Amino acid sequence: MRRRRFLQQLGSGAVIAGAALGSACSRNDSAAAAGSAAATAFKPVKWKMVTTWPKNFPGLGTSANLLGELITRMSGGRIQVKVYGAKELVPAFGVFDAVSRGTVQMGHGAAYYWKGKSEEAQFFSAVPFGLTADEMDAWLHHGGGMELWEETYRPFGLVPLAAGNTGVQMAGWFNREINSVDDLKGLKMRIPGLGGEVLKRAGGLPVSLPGGELFTSLQSGAIDATEWVGPYNDLAFGLYKAAKYYYYPGWHEPGTTLECIVNRKAFEALPEDLQAIVRQAARVVNQDLLSEYIARNNEALKTLVEEHHVAVRPLPEEVLQRLRKLSDEVVAEIAARSQRAQRIYDSYHAFRQQVIAWSNISERAYLNARGSG
Ligand code: CA
Repeated sequence: MRRRRFLQQLGSGAVIAGAALGSACSRNDSAAAAGSAAATAFKPVKWKMVTTWPKNFPGLGTSANLLGELITRMSGGRIQVKVYGAKELVPAFGVFDAVSRGTVQMGHGAAYYWKGKSEEAQFFSAVPFGLTADEMDAWLHHGGGMELWEETYRPFGLVPLAAGNTGVQMAGWFNREINSVDDLKGLKMRIPGLGGEVLKRAGGLPVSLPGGELFTSLQSGAIDATEWVGPYNDLAFGLYKAAKYYYYPGWHEPGTTLECIVNRKAFEALPEDLQAIVRQAARVVNQDLLSEYIARNNEALKTLVEEHHVAVRPLPEEVLQRLRKLSDEVVAEIAARSQRAQRIYDSYHAFRQQVIAWSNISERAYLNARGSG
């Protein structure tokens, strides 16, 4: 029902936007005619979107479905997108290569899964102690981030688009208490991206596993701890059945951007109006998923605590301080390894420094003023 309402609202919005566009075009008939000719000359295409998520997984998989539906509907069927879950066409971690090679036209996942291809990619998903969801969107879309992301993916024949944000994640599920920095030593934990590098520096053993393998790995004892996303998604995987302690905050993923990747040749073969539709559909999903997470995480947290009696605990300040210091080192070292990484880091870091001054007297000040109850 919710999805249908959303599309109906979008439909009426599209009519209004169309009317406005029509009046603008009436002042520029030749441009309108050229656009219309390009649109009618374009033969409808069928695109495949592969994803790193289990099919229809709440939030992650369903936002990929929404992206496919929006592109199909907004284009009037000129692009018909079919969405595939992990392993249906390619394995979860095969998404990048499949889209890069043009085996399929689109993918949905997160940039930190591709650190083996490009270490810099990690800056476009999440940086430990980095930008929050709102700040990340601000950097990407109004602070130069998207241009750097495009440059990073160009050698792979990919167009990147921000297509979802989880907001602040949870630190994860642990089978042992974390009372001091020493408790991280030897901890075998699923934690991807830069957060994993930081855990390694703290003496832990990070592993990268797709979501679909977390529950059995944790339950069998193959790993001691795992992070996934937050209450909404962690409840769906039943992680509370495999670990006792649920720690916060998600220091390693303060506002993770999910990505849509499009094969560049396929994208450039589209007329301009369809390229705009693909880009704008991703922007809609980018915002919609964050709203969904905020709405669903608090419901799911209540269920975890009240029905499943999960022990929700803060990481000790001493542990966070140590992780913060190590994060600064790890991120700066990765930046120093290539010229492009350094430019991305400089842009990200400068934006972070700047936005902290504003966030301190806006979001942080307001949250403090609102109080905790
Ligand atoms: Ca995560």
